[in-house]
Amino acid sequence: MSGFHHLALIGMGLIGSSIARAARAALPDLAISGFDSDAGTVERVRALGLCDQVHQDYTALAEADLVILCVPVGAIGKVASDIAPHVHKNAVISDVGSCKASVLADLAQQLPSHSIIPAHPVAGTEKSGPDAGFASLFAGRWCIITPPDNANNDDVQKVSDFWTGLGANVETMDAEHHDMVLAVTSHLPHLIAYTIVGTASDLEDVTRSEVIKYSAGGFRDFTRIAASNPVMWRDVFMSNKEAVLAMLQRFTEDLTALQRAIRRDEGDVLEEMFTRTRDIRRNIIEEGQDVAAPDFGRERKDQ
Ligand code: NAP
Repeated sequence: MSGFHHLALIGMGLIGSSIARAARAALPDLAISGFDSDAGTVERVRALGLCDQVHQDYTALAEADLVILCVPVGAIGKVASDIAPHVHKNAVISDVGSCKASVLADLAQQLPSHSIIPAHPVAGTEKSGPDAGFASLFAGRWCIITPPDNANNDDVQKVSDFWTGLGANVETMDAEHHDMVLAVTSHLPHLIAYTIVGTASDLEDVTRSEVIKYSAGGFRDFTRIAASNPVMWRDVFMSNKEAVLAMLQRFTEDLTALQRAIRRDEGDVLEEMFTRTRDIRRNIIEEGQDVAAPDFGRERKDQ
């Protein structure tokens, strides 16, 4: 039980539709309304039977006591402004955005009288849209809740219970800390993957067919990340600019150190570094945040 009676999901893409599926399965007493600005998506969500109701306009939003915005972080301010006249005054407002400080500021500006409890489920895939979602996406994954200083503790608990109900592990931290942590664990890796795949496709002395043919040498695993939603990731880098630039500076220095070790034939420096990184991979698997299978366990069939 989450303590909520009626969930409204704004944006029925990968994350919104996964929440709908997971809530259907795990919280059967919760009424679910889906909202999406695209008529085709509304039709698709209806056909998939993911929600009790699905709408293109926000009139029916007044029934919900938990409203979760599942749109790109750059669209949160505009969507919050659009829903403001329709949301019930006692509804708790949350989101799933990958950056938290900018989202909290946008939500607080547009919905100043509401209880705002932002959240970020650290779970996803490179796919988009309502067909890409699945019920087990959050099972065993972390969901980070970033309540503002003046948050209502009961609402924080209810949002936490909601995510626990979907199978997630919940951690609470402030928005700035979240953005710094995610800059290194998620945002920087995406930036590096986009760069490597971009560089490979620009190389003139290696043909595109060779890049694809020999991709199992490591490149292939970067292409999965680099296939992620371009709009979502554009917004992440625009919204978490300071933390990403700080981590990028650190990364550039470490890369330069490796470059120097290669130039100076310092194999021991490389080996020490690669041994440390192998341990991190082992820890991630041991903590159940990935499996050792080569597809990284993301293509779950137990939906
Ligand atoms: P998605 O599958 O592309 O879905 C995005 C949804 O937002 C769609 O319903 C889309 O509507 C709607 N949307 C896009 N731009 C909009 C705008 N300007 N105004 C109103 N609605 C708009 O993306 P997603 O992966 O679910 O991402 C949604 C949120 O989850 C993002 O904030 C992202 O940072 C966060 N997140 C993503 C992941 C991940 O791995 N993908 C993981 C954790 C958190 P249409 O139907 O019109 O396209």
